[in-house]
Amino acid sequence: MSQTTQNDQLSFDTVIIGGGAAGLCTAIRLAQKSQTHKKDIRICVLEKGAQVGAHIISGCILNPEGLDQLLPNWRQMDTPIKTKVVKDRFYWMTKKHAYRLPVPPPMRNQDGYIVSLSKVCVWLGQIAESLGVSIFPGYSAHKALFGKDGEVIGIETGEMGRLKNGDKGPQYQPGVPIYCKQLILAEGCKGSLTENLINHFELRKNCQIQNYAIGLKEVWTAKNKYYQEGLSIHSTGWPLDHKTYGGGFIYHYEGKIALGLVIGLDYQPPNIDPHGELQKLKTHPFISRQLDGEQCIAYGARALNEGGYQAIPQLVFPGGLIVGCAAGFLNVAQLKGTHNAMKSGIIAADAVFNHLQSPISSTRCTNYQHTIEQSSMYRELKKVRNIRPGFYRGRLAGFMNAAFETVTFGLSPWTLRLENDAKKLRPIADYPPRHYPKPDGKRYFSKTDSVRLTGTNHTEDQPCHLVIKDPKRVIPINYAIYGGPEQFYCPANVYEYIKTNQKVVLQINGQNCIHCKTCAIKDPGDNIEWLLPQGGEGPRYSET
Ligand SMILES: Cc1cc2nc3c(=O)[nH]c(=O)nc-3n(C[C@H](O)[C@H](O)[C@H](O)COP(=O)(O)OP(=O)(O)OC[C@H]3O[C@@H](n4cnc5c(N)ncnc54)[C@H](O)[C@@H]3O)c2cc1C
Ligand code: SF4
Repeated sequence: MSQTTQNDQLSFDTVIIGGGAAGLCTAIRLAQKSQTHKKDIRICVLEKGAQVGAHIISGCILNPEGLDQLLPNWRQMDTPIKTKVVKDRFYWMTKKHAYRLPVPPPMRNQDGYIVSLSKVCVWLGQIAESLGVSIFPGYSAHKALFGKDGEVIGIETGEMGRLKNGDKGPQYQPGVPIYCKQLILAEGCKGSLTENLINHFELRKNCQIQNYAIGLKEVWTAKNKYYQEGLSIHSTGWPLDHKTYGGGFIYHYEGKIALGLVIGLDYQPPNIDPHGELQKLKTHPFISRQLDGEQCIAYGARALNEGGYQAIPQLVFPGGLIVGCAAGFLNVAQLKGTHNAMKSGIIAADAVFNHLQSPISSTRCTNYQHTIEQSSMYRELKKVRNIRPGFYRGRLAGFMNAAFETVTFGLSPWTLRLENDAKKLRPIADYPPRHYPKPDGKRYFSKTDSVRLTGTNHTEDQPCHLVIKDPKRVIPINYAIYGGPEQFYCPANVYEYIKTNQKVVLQINGQNCIHCKTCAIKDPGDNIEWLLPQGGEGPRYSET
């Protein structure tokens, strides 16, 4: 980083935290504007993954609206966006059958492209760099720095080389302060620094609680006769019961199949294992035949936000603002957030550019909030605001409410309240054990097998980044009452209850963590703190 050091102090006009779709589109737009207007705006992007794209996982059907605004000639460029959706299908699944239904309007993707979002972010990163943006992969933003009036004036990166026992190791490097005029938070769903600043500035005072889901995905080779380039399938029903919100997706693209499952984190049975449910989905004859003779080449999981319109916090704070899924702009009815991540980045860049040129000295870029509230993106989210909470009462009630909200264009005069996901868990005693397919290492995988496909890695000799806030709650509450839900919902086998000498202890295999953030959401007592590990660690996704 030293080449940009000035007066022993690393500073930029804008520091963007997160090299996902939101952060990179913000950077590109800001760089484009500074070139067009011949202004020297110094922009930096910090990305905690070892490379841009390494922590990116998505479905992904890309609605290109945002990209059309940002790079109008992208179709003439050499991009990783190659497969247009040519056929949409929607199925109601029972254990043995798949019944084709009309595709609900939000699931129609006639303008969409099936992509690996990880690869798209690599490409966007290259464009940003070619426009002069400084991208620092392998660096995470750990904490905000504050000025004398309480405004954010920069961040400090995480320290490296601290040992498990808390001492500084031989490779120890302290965190680096980086100063900026505007900090842009683009950390994605449940961003750590974002949540800290949301709490610090009380940005959730006027909105509802956020809702979440966990999405898991496998990528398979696809050479058999069932492969149809450009086919997009969404499913509802089995293997999830009627009280559990979610569904499957299967996308055929570039000689591969992306197979995934999204499960609302408001589920009640504490022994639901989302990774196990994905394995179960593959036993269905309709899915199974698409995978015959094929090989699984990638796996990943990530939380996504589902609260939508009524869960959007105040977006601007002194010294910065929030974009993309860090702010919660995902359209849950469509299962799409990438277009809004891009659009919010574009709006943010325009607002920050004007703010930096403005003679009025203010640390708040208020124009961003205003423009978002006037935007088509905001109207889109408002229209579907009641769809997700309509499913709290089960699938049938949810679909009836969704149909009503769709035909009335979301004009109903009410806004349904969002409820706390973690508080929905019920005692394990209320549920029978759940059974999942036996791993065979070919079609069905153990979590350990799956994690191997993510390339995840964390230095073992460092303080664990998963901190149990009150260890006294673990056995009597998490284990005795809820049966240890973290051992089920964690998609990477990080939490294991080990029985030794008639004692049960919770073992945390932090090195397996794939940064999905589910444990920071679904713990019944909000007892798990997800801290940022050393930069450059975690998954190394490239196909997701
Ligand atoms: C299974 C699944 C399927 C999906 N399907 C679709 C789909 O089909 N279509 C669609 O449009 N959307 C889909 N989405 C949603 C879509 O992926 C998100 O809306 C989109 O990725 C949001 O982009 P973002 O840039 O806001 O956040 P992210 O993609 O999460 O990117 C955030 C980046 O910030 C980095 N970061 C976080 N914290 C820090 C820090 N402190 N310091 C440095 N770096 C940090 C992360 O490593 C990451 O690279 C899906 C999501 C999932 C999980
Ligand atoms: S430890 Fe938490 S963040 Fe890491 S993979 Fe498991 S649930 Fe996800």
